[in-house]
Amino acid sequence: MLYESFNLEEILFEKNIGGNDCFLESVICLLFGCYEFRKSFSQHIDTPHTCYPKCISCCLVSVYKSVMTSKTLDVYNLRVRLSTVFKNKSLFQQNHKSDAIECLNAILNALHCKQIGDTSEGINESALNENCRSSCISHNLFSLGVIESYQCECESQSQTEWDYSNYCQYFNIADILSQADLKKSKNLLIVPIIKLKNYKNDANCDLKGKMMTSLQLKLQTAEVDCCSRDNCKKKKSKISFSLPKPPSIYLLNIIWESDEVSHLDSFIATISITESITMKEIYGNSTSDIYNLRGILFYKKSHYEYALRTDNFWAFKGLGEECGWYELLKETTIMNYHPICLVYERSLESYILKISHSDLLELEKLACECYFYENKINEDFYNDFLDDCTGLFNTRKKKSSSNNPITESPKITQEDNYESQHQQKNLEIIDKRIKEVRISEEKKSNPKPSDNLETKKPLSKSETKQSNCNNIEKSSNNDPVFDEKKNVNQKSWKCSCGSENLNDWDICPSCQGLKPGIQGWVCKFCTNINNDSEVRCEACFSYKNQNSQSEFWKCSKCDSFNTGSKFSCSKCKSMKSQVSSKPANVAYSGVRYPKNNIRKS
Ligand SMILES: [Zn+2]
Ligand SMILES: [Zn+2]
Ligand SMILES: [Zn+2]
Ligand SMILES: [Zn+2]
Ligand SMILES: [Zn+2]
Ligand SMILES: [Zn+2]
Ligand SMILES: [Zn+2]
Repeated sequence: MLYESFNLEEILFEKNIGGNDCFLESVICLLFGCYEFRKSFSQHIDTPHTCYPKCISCCLVSVYKSVMTSKTLDVYNLRVRLSTVFKNKSLFQQNHKSDAIECLNAILNALHCKQIGDTSEGINESALNENCRSSCISHNLFSLGVIESYQCECESQSQTEWDYSNYCQYFNIADILSQADLKKSKNLLIVPIIKLKNYKNDANCDLKGKMMTSLQLKLQTAEVDCCSRDNCKKKKSKISFSLPKPPSIYLLNIIWESDEVSHLDSFIATISITESITMKEIYGNSTSDIYNLRGILFYKKSHYEYALRTDNFWAFKGLGEECGWYELLKETTIMNYHPICLVYERSLESYILKISHSDLLELEKLACECYFYENKINEDFYNDFLDDCTGLFNTRKKKSSSNNPITESPKITQEDNYESQHQQKNLEIIDKRIKEVRISEEKKSNPKPSDNLETKKPLSKSETKQSNCNNIEKSSNNDPVFDEKKNVNQKSWKCSCGSENLNDWDICPSCQGLKPGIQGWVCKFCTNINNDSEVRCEACFSYKNQNSQSEFWKCSKCDSFNTGSKFSCSKCKSMKSQVSSKPANVAYSGVRYPKNNIRKS
């Protein structure tokens, strides 16, 4: 069985535009990103679902179907159903902040209840602990039946098993952060990046991959002040663990004491993640099967994002194709996302997160710069940019070996070009920040009343986000669900071709025309918006005046691209006359909407 056999394209979805359902979208994407889950779930779908209104389980089936057929993630109905079912518990309500881990548990509980014929969808507590003999997807894949054995100093013994409805191991991140030393990171600030290769100190990068060792130690030394014998004088029991029936998918929930997390702590927590683990290492008495990191749930100021891995590449908002661990770390460090849940899948061979020592040190230095910037300026490091991602990596393209004309120009120049552009942008951000620190220090030593930072401070990105996420609260409409959808539709612009487009979309999906007021030209191949001064597309290096329809044609039989001068396909030898009438760019992009129309939450 090939465990790692799926493409990034399968798990990169269009997100629901304008919604504040990031907690639900992230959970769904992490579940569907797991090979084992998709395999089980697609079998589950075959049994007919006939309930009305649709239950949580049936809503999830609909979400799955639309993801698999149209690559569109629409969680709207599932969200409404969750808020209806959990109304009395005040969970997942439209005007409240929702917790992604609670949501994950609710979905798994609902799948279990459906299987055992309980119609409460997870509300009925006794149904949650009713043994289904692993017949439901939740228990079949996630069941974490850890057995704790207590051995008191008085020699008496007892055993207890974790709740049947528990699918998560918990880990307190303080166990890692308490080992970090801020001074070590600070020392990096004065080391130039080019000297990091020969830097002898590990700084805090020695915590790389240490999370599981830390959890293991915690479990091995677990003790509790109790005894099964009531009249025991010692009441001091050692706990040993065993996991006789290991899960296929292992969930680790990372506990943070506060939502206010510094860039440096986010960075250290993320590098401490262990990429490949076994249940035997953690629980002692269990299988030595390998479990590899498949996904990470990140959190930042009431917003969730997810990262999913395919082979050595990571999919994450703001990352282009072929982004690895280095790019993900850099993006999450600058954006200050911290990991709150890890998803591991059973696999055949262990996987290694590839990153060089000097790259790690460079990122720790960066995290430290962000940290000091925020302490000095009292403002988010990343706040006044147009997108809610750094934009450092979103133009990164696949080094495709297919006969696609876009990649036919020499690879080396493209890569070099990309690297220098990327480094340039990176330096610009850092430079700007460092200058701001200096300016603020000058102001502090030489204060002018008119230059009050507080009154001049623009609305930061995070505050904008916050207000977007909470805009339903302010609405007085008594049907918040309807209002939310209507609100999005109202904000639209009319293209010269007659199409009504969402305000978030800078490009018309019908004619690829630009929204009025947006400068530049749209690349016919990748729909990137480029400056008028550029002759070639910044993202895919196609020429501005290249005519996609006359210079290239797409073979209708094998989807290969061929140059206009050829009359038969270079790959399958079909004749050009069989070419579809669709413009090549639409067929090439393969997504429903132009690339620039990403969701802005
Ligand atoms: Zn149903
Ligand atoms: Zn079950
Ligand atoms: Zn005892
Ligand atoms: Zn959000
Ligand atoms: Zn149009
Ligand atoms: Zn392009
Ligand atoms: Zn062909």
